[in-house]
Parts: sequence; C-alpha cells; structure tokens
Amino acid sequence: MINCRDCASALNPYLDRELSDEDVVQVRSHLEACGGCLHVYQFEESLRRLVKVRCRQQGAPEWLRERITVSLAMERIRQEQRRRPPEMRGAD
Ligand SMILES: [Zn+2]
Repeated sequence: MINCRDCASALNPYLDRELSDEDVVQVRSHLEACGGCLHVYQFEESLRRLVKVRCRQQGAPEWLRERITVSLAMERIRQEQRRRPPEMRGAD
C-alpha cells in the first residue's frame, strides 16, 4: 500500500497515464480507501479538463495568430506595390 505522500506525487503521472499498471493499481486502491486523496485527485482531474476545454475554445495559439496577421499584412503591401505604375516598381 502506498501512503498519502506517494499518492500525491503519483497523481500527475497517473493523470498523464505515465504510470506502470502496477502503480496504477496502487494509486487506485489508495484513492478508494482515502477520501482526502480522492478529493485532490478529482480536483486535479477537473482542472485538466478545464484547461483542455479552454485550449479548444481559444483555437489558434497566440504566436500562430500573430504570424497569420503579419503574413496578411505583407500580402497587402505586396498587392499595393503591384497596383503602382511600372516606373514606380523596383528591379523586378
Ligand atoms: Zn491518501
């Protein structure tokens, strides 16, 4: 049997499914027997679910949105240049 401290340190790898089958059984049986650790586990689990939902709602990450914004701006500048009369253009 593992104790509460072992259980607490195993919670994250448990939630990440990084534990061996043997350890999973140990954590599970401790959670069944210990209300305090079960509470912590449920809190951690709901936190993870919330983070996952948030990520999905936000869609593209910030850096990607920035990159898209920049490339759209560059494209607009290129089109502006194309619209200018030929003698205004560069070497191309
Ligand atoms: Zn416990």
